[in-house]
Amino acid sequence: MYNNNILGKSLERWIEEFPLITQLISTEEVFWNNPHYRPFEQCAGELPLEEKHVQDAEQRLQRFAPYLAKAFPETRQMNGIIESPLVQIPAMQQDVEDRYGQKILGQLWLKCDSHLPISGSIKARGGIYEVLKYAEDLAIHHNMLTVEEDYSILADQAFKDFFSQYSIAVGSTGNLGMSIGIISAEIGFHVTVHMSADAKQWKKDLLRKKGVVVVEYASDYSKAVEEGRKQSEQDPTCYFIDDENSQDLFLGYSVAAPRLKKQLEDRKVIVDEDHPLFVYLPCGVGGGPGGVAFGLKLLYKDQVHCFFGEPTHSPCMLLGLMTGMHNKISVQDFGIDNITIADGLAVGRPSGFVGKTVEGLLSGIYTVSDDQLVELLRALVDTENIHLEPSALAGAYGAIQLFKSEAGHNYVEKHDLRKKLMNATHIIWATGGSMVPEDIMASYYSMAKS
Ligand SMILES: *Cc1c(COP(=O)(O)O)cnc(C)c1O
Repeated sequence: MYNNNILGKSLERWIEEFPLITQLISTEEVFWNNPHYRPFEQCAGELPLEEKHVQDAEQRLQRFAPYLAKAFPETRQMNGIIESPLVQIPAMQQDVEDRYGQKILGQLWLKCDSHLPISGSIKARGGIYEVLKYAEDLAIHHNMLTVEEDYSILADQAFKDFFSQYSIAVGSTGNLGMSIGIISAEIGFHVTVHMSADAKQWKKDLLRKKGVVVVEYASDYSKAVEEGRKQSEQDPTCYFIDDENSQDLFLGYSVAAPRLKKQLEDRKVIVDEDHPLFVYLPCGVGGGPGGVAFGLKLLYKDQVHCFFGEPTHSPCMLLGLMTGMHNKISVQDFGIDNITIADGLAVGRPSGFVGKTVEGLLSGIYTVSDDQLVELLRALVDTENIHLEPSALAGAYGAIQLFKSEAGHNYVEKHDLRKKLMNATHIIWATGGSMVPEDIMASYYSMAKS
């Protein structure tokens, strides 16, 4: 059944070298501590991006704020800044402690990117940022705009006519397509979204209603990206947003970090040597969680511990980092099917750029079954009345596994965290959900009940 020759090695050899592969193949839940994790100062010199790049992205989003406030009324209240609430979830914490018979030391919080304006997922950070940056580059290059100007003029018809000469394309499992599609169409670009088979019908319908061209594929995410890239290359006026390699997307996500820092300070939550911060991020191709983790490490260095969560059927980043093969390896190479209810995470091959960037920064990766995702989805509705899509709950399993698994214990011991856990802050990064239609949300909820 398995390919006997996987990237030049037999399956037996792979397992000998990386015994965890056995559990990955049988889609068991695992908790993997990253052996490449190092003190931040040791990694800092080797990173392809630095703090000034994050600040540049932050300032660009600031310039666009007057435009966004005008074009998207739902952002007006925040003066055109696309940001999400940070909320403490004590009832959920109690519920999972009871449910899993495991005390979580420290305080559990939820970062509600599920409720980001415009597109209701973490993709409203990176996706929208990259389109805005492209629009700015074009307008400045054609002497229609300077960085000193009030960007609300971008909502004028003259700009829409100008941007309509250009097109944008992207491959997506759904949410990135939503972000890119919605913002591009509003600015005036022609936009094509190449959707993988797992993309939900309601997302395609919503985009088509906004004038976005949606191309559907019978295969998974990697194929949709590949096709999108190929078709875009043939059109010189087309700009392809490359979820697997884009530094702009990554930087758009990273801006979440300074904003979160401010939110924590406003809430009087301390992060320092004796008050560690743990962040649990759902991971697909890696850009979203990678960008956020990168931004957080720049600010908090060794005081923040970032973990990614992946579905048991799509542990692509784990496989790529563990083997060091990054985007050269896929879960399908090992007969893992990449089929999961967590459509935003249904990615079989990770981003090589992200994997190499976060290699020394990431504390570890755990996997989570679809059953647990819907259980946690239901628990969060029942305890806090917060509705997330299944992918977003991958973050919610992190704190449980840190305390429950042997590898989690090892991490705590190795980094001398045991005595500090009482003071810990655990943040579940809730990556999507507010735009899911009610009937579909109800079907997720009832899945857990049955
Ligand atoms: C895209 C997505 C992620 C993961 O982001 P990647 O950049 O693909 O790793 C997580 N959750 C949701 C809901 C998403 O849409």
